Amino acid sequence: MTKRLLNYAKDAWVAGAGAAVPVVSAISGETVAVVGSDGLDFAGMLEHARTVGGPALRAMNFHERGGMLKALAQAIMNRKEELYELSAQTGATRNDGWIDIEGGAGTFFTMASKARRELPADVVIVDGEHEVLGKTGSFIGQHVYTSLQGCAVQINAFNFPVWGMLEKLGPALLAGMPAIVKPATATAQVAEQAVRIMIEAGVLPKGALQLVVGSLGDTLDHLTCQDVVSFTGSAATAIKLQSHPVMARESVRFVAERDSINACVLGPDATPDAPEFDLFVKEVVREMTVKAGQKCTAIRRAFVPRALMDAAQQALAARLSKVVVGDPAQDGVTMGALVSLSQRADVRDAARALAGECTLAWGSIDTVEAKGDADRGAFQSPLLFRNDQPWQAQHVHDVEAFGPVCTLMPYADVEDAIALCNRGKGSLALSVFTYQPETVRAFVLGSGALHGRMVFVDRDSAKESTGHGSPLPMLIHGGPGRAGGGEEMGGVRGVKHYMQRSALQAHPRMIGHVIGQWLPGVPQPSGEAHPFRKRFGELDLGYTLHTAARTITLADVEHFAEFTGDNFYAHMDEVAAAASPIFGGRVAHGYLILSFAAGLFVDPAPGPVLANFGLEHLRFIKPVKPGDSIKVALTAKAKSLRTADMGEVRWAVAVTNQDDELVAAYDLLTMNAV
Ligand code: NDP
Repeated sequence: MTKRLLNYAKDAWVAGAGAAVPVVSAISGETVAVVGSDGLDFAGMLEHARTVGGPALRAMNFHERGGMLKALAQAIMNRKEELYELSAQTGATRNDGWIDIEGGAGTFFTMASKARRELPADVVIVDGEHEVLGKTGSFIGQHVYTSLQGCAVQINAFNFPVWGMLEKLGPALLAGMPAIVKPATATAQVAEQAVRIMIEAGVLPKGALQLVVGSLGDTLDHLTCQDVVSFTGSAATAIKLQSHPVMARESVRFVAERDSINACVLGPDATPDAPEFDLFVKEVVREMTVKAGQKCTAIRRAFVPRALMDAAQQALAARLSKVVVGDPAQDGVTMGALVSLSQRADVRDAARALAGECTLAWGSIDTVEAKGDADRGAFQSPLLFRNDQPWQAQHVHDVEAFGPVCTLMPYADVEDAIALCNRGKGSLALSVFTYQPETVRAFVLGSGALHGRMVFVDRDSAKESTGHGSPLPMLIHGGPGRAGGGEEMGGVRGVKHYMQRSALQAHPRMIGHVIGQWLPGVPQPSGEAHPFRKRFGELDLGYTLHTAARTITLADVEHFAEFTGDNFYAHMDEVAAAASPIFGGRVAHGYLILSFAAGLFVDPAPGPVLANFGLEHLRFIKPVKPGDSIKVALTAKAKSLRTADMGEVRWAVAVTNQDDELVAAYDLLTMNAV
């Protein structure tokens, strides 16, 4: 009996009622599973997410949510072979599966580590510095992000059933938002198993993750301004979803990744024997064949200087002739199948449209030599088209043939190449193979507005280049216009898509309490104990040490100069320093001020302060002249637990002179025992 994939609704695995939609093997054409979601209580699932999943996730801080992602990624890695097995049914080679499965887990690992390093052990993200709004500083402004209180509805494409799901799910969970995930039917068996693995890992709170295999029913009818819809797929579906009246009425956030006619350019400086020429050829063929070209970021248009058209065509054809299409289970196969025969029919239709205005330089639209069942497997020959008049062509810039299809075209000069890339009307990724920095700058200025990610590859970066087609969790993925206008990932940026930014206005004491920071204008109590004697848990924000004063002499300055070798004229040359419009005479080194400040505030005995690991936001505000005396206010400004035994303490250090004028200010970071 054919396996029926299950929905995961309100923390239970349930089969959909009614007619089932088949999921078909890309290799054999057999039905490997069926999906269906009839009978699900979609409104109830949204409510469950909002009332059970959301509060549970929001009760965890960013570090705890990051720990949860790490455990989920680990669970996927532990059971990855189950996913590889299912992935092979979708036509994926082992390498394609690796990008999807281990790439997906890697995305969670990266997000988890970003959460630990870049987000607080709290639930609020502070956005930028506070703004002083009044004369005395008793009324300030501060931007913060807090979690949305709805549900993330995530609709995924068929091409990356694991990675595509996790790159959306990770930021939502980190933001404290539960999700209902809807995979594409064509590869739903892989996504369903990945969800099963995550649920069985036992680390997700109830209501945090639900799964719909099949139609989303009337889900969209029940959305509110607290929900987010994230979508990857065709422009036609994106437009349908986006025009749903509830989306406009409730101002539901909508993030879309959709069709993208990505371009790759061989720079004007390249010659056939330049390393960049080879790199370009390899990359174009790689992008055509990985995942059989079913990648939202794949290269669809390859541009070369007009004089290199023939050389580029020959080199691409020579490389394409080595591609072995077929069932990935068979030896020697380097390119797998398209996801289904119907997807192949779509690709062939698109290819025929291209053939109407291009010549076919390599491959065959309707026949294919493949290792495997050529009648039932969705195999497709790679297709390299050539068009020598790109400004006269239309389909090459507008039709996304979602398979191993690319068109080679010439350009006249850099300006022309930029205009041709931009003719795609918004893309996810643009790559340029050049050794000229001026070409890189010209592309960034001329094309940045139309491309979400720009990759520049040359002989010096090639070895470490992550390639044209790989979105990375620390960088944004998305693009304007045709590409959907969305933006995902980008490290912590992606988390903020599931949060609301608000501007707070209040007394610093109120805002400090909200964001867990001491802010200027809030009392700075002192006590008997030196702050360095207090353990992490004993230290109250605002607790301040006011040091004694120390007078800085000319001998100090000269001694410091001799000792460190810093004989800059402002410290050592009376005449030149006097002529300086800034100093008007000799002044103490900034580093001397820092060193003496430390000498004033440090408590020397071993204790809970384990290490000083840096200064931030350092400013020297007013020169210190020989004869001036300095003193320090050291205030516990913020604390963040890093491990079970250690926490980071951020100290506000204010160095003032004998007239109480601020001469230097900075944040000092120490690691303290808990
Ligand atoms: P679709 O837009 O049809 O499907 C994408 C997702 O949307 C699937 O999960 C699909 O579910 C779902 N969906 C479809 N209709 C609705 C609806 N009315 N309400 C809610 N969800 C819906 O794209 P395909 O995956 O079929 O691919 C078609 C073409 O889209 C490709 O040939 C390619 O050109 C382009 N594409 C572009 C991508 C990109 O990022 N650039 C990625 C993938 C595809 P179900 O599968 O159950 O129908």
